[in-house]
Amino acid sequence: MRSIPFFIDGARVEVGSGRRQEVTDPNTGEAQATVTFADAGDVAAAIAAAAHPAWASVNPQRRARVMFAFKRLVEAEMDALAALLSSEHGKVIADSKGDIQRGLEVIEFACGIPHALKGEYTEGAGPGIDVYSMRQPLGVVAGITPFNFPAMIPMWMFGVAIACGNTFVLKPSEKDPSVPVRLAELFMQAGQEAGVEVKGVLNVVHGDKIAVDAILTHPEIKAVSFVGSSDIAHYIYQTGAANGKRVQAMGGAKNHGIVLPDADMDQVVKDLVGAAYGSAGERCMALPVVVPVGKKTADELRARVSAELETLRVGVSTDASAQYGPVVSASHRDKIASYIEMGVEEGAELVVDGRGFAMQGYENGFFIGPSLFDHVKPEMKSYQEEIFGPVLQIVRTESFEEALALPSKHQYGNGVAIFTRNGRAAREFAARVNVGMVGINVPIPVPVAYHTFGGWKRSAFGDTNQHGMEGVKFWTKVKTVTARWPEGMQEDSSFVIPTMR
Ligand code: NAD
Repeated sequence: MRSIPFFIDGARVEVGSGRRQEVTDPNTGEAQATVTFADAGDVAAAIAAAAHPAWASVNPQRRARVMFAFKRLVEAEMDALAALLSSEHGKVIADSKGDIQRGLEVIEFACGIPHALKGEYTEGAGPGIDVYSMRQPLGVVAGITPFNFPAMIPMWMFGVAIACGNTFVLKPSEKDPSVPVRLAELFMQAGQEAGVEVKGVLNVVHGDKIAVDAILTHPEIKAVSFVGSSDIAHYIYQTGAANGKRVQAMGGAKNHGIVLPDADMDQVVKDLVGAAYGSAGERCMALPVVVPVGKKTADELRARVSAELETLRVGVSTDASAQYGPVVSASHRDKIASYIEMGVEEGAELVVDGRGFAMQGYENGFFIGPSLFDHVKPEMKSYQEEIFGPVLQIVRTESFEEALALPSKHQYGNGVAIFTRNGRAAREFAARVNVGMVGINVPIPVPVAYHTFGGWKRSAFGDTNQHGMEGVKFWTKVKTVTARWPEGMQEDSSFVIPTMR
């Protein structure tokens, strides 16, 4: 069986603690590879390989040239990478291409890093005094990533971090680890094509809590970026900070779509179905809760979404006509099914039940059909928690204020969308809602790469977002220089704090 290696110091490495885990194909339910788990020694070896300060002094334009070459190489291998990604994650091929493409958009941002790293300069801040600031890299930094975007999220992190002059240790999800290793190989090739030495700049180790703890406690690691579920994000934030590291830790989500009575219902139904069920609901920016305002809106939505679900096509990842594929594992499918059961027990009305779904010819695959709940109430646990599956919950409200309060009070605050033709209502909603990313008639408001990604409340711990200028800030530290070149007479010693006169 294929073995998925680490990537350390520019080469594939087969070492590890001896602990291994199978990587399954969610379409068939069969093991297709094994992944080696790192112990603290393996993590230390990756960090040692990354500890080469020469990368920081490669000028930003040459670092950007590596990013340009990397982008070309990933684009040239798009089909094969997407097939590999789908075979371990289960999302359909077109969606895997989207996963890779969204990551490449951050690489495109990283190609412009010379501009983003320019500091500030004040001439004549005092007599003969100039003040300037520069952004310098942190050193060896790390990323720990979830299963659901095995290409995009690693590229969010290492694209900006490396372009800023840091070297990187990536610990991707053990569920779909092959694409990150291939990206590291392509990065190595990109260095060769650009004529820049990148050995040790991007390293990949696999594993679980043991590898993660080794990263969080290693003195050489200066910053950690994490994306995953909220309890683990909180743990990473606390442990990383306790060990003196800069940490950003993105967590789970439960995004709401507010539908006002004046919304374009034809468009809303299409947007909702795509955003709730795409990628089998395994997106932190999925839209698993819809909040219609008024009974008429709710009744129409329920009827039209149910009708759409009759034609929604679940299939294997390679089926170009399938709208979503299997979920990532049998245990995750069972967890989704248990949330559906919970919703029923709590008294919500299960309008469409996806649990009985079986894929002909793929009976051992991790498939689950689309489910729809109506009359879901805020006090239900199945509403309060993240399900991360193809389940849409309708929470009925009577007013704009009631609808605005739901996402605002929810424990998660990643994304939210409002659907309306009323510009004033949309503007007020965007200003007042207690959530980090807002869509106005946009169901999945993932910001473009040169803006920044991050939620609020239990969706993110730490105060700096992913990519855009926030990413540049996270992966660099500011140094400020105050320079005086006096002319003529020297001043006497001063025993009071200098002020600007
Ligand atoms: P997860 O939290 O199980 O795993 C994320 C990473 O943490 C993996 O690399 C995993 O190996 C590691 N990990 C797992 N258990 C650990 C432990 N006990 N100690 C230390 N590290 C551990 O998340 P997942 O299931 O891979 O991904 C799905 C979750 O990620 C969902 O909650 C989803 O909302 C969230 N997510 C959030 C965002 C965002 O930007 N907010 C984006 C994508 C996914």
